[in-house]
Amino acid sequence: MSTRTMARIHRASTEHTDWCVRDHTCGIDTHRGRPITIAPDTGGRAIVTRVRAGDRDYAEITMRVPLHRTDSLAGKQLNALLWHLRSLLAAVAALRPGTLTGRTARRAIDSRRGA
Ligand SMILES: [Zn+2]
Repeated sequence: MSTRTMARIHRASTEHTDWCVRDHTCGIDTHRGRPITIAPDTGGRAIVTRVRAGDRDYAEITMRVPLHRTDSLAGKQLNALLWHLRSLLAAVAALRPGTLTGRTARRAIDSRRGA
């Protein structure tokens, strides 16, 4: 028995961005930047790629983290990884326009100190 679908998937094409690589990795409505790889001396590797899918930009992250052979220690390493990833996502989400400019950040710090 064969199945045929008559549904058509319609995706509106979008123009390449200033930062996408403009090669086969770009799709009809998805554009990808050049992957950036970090490989610290402590082991592991992370690859970060900027992606625009439709009207949203994302950071696509692929990581390989070496774990200890002992299950209990590997479990602790996974817990630490999840805790730090949650913190990382919160820190990135907290960045808003103006948070990286010195004057705005300085005013916010000074107001908390009562200056
Ligand atoms: Zn593109």
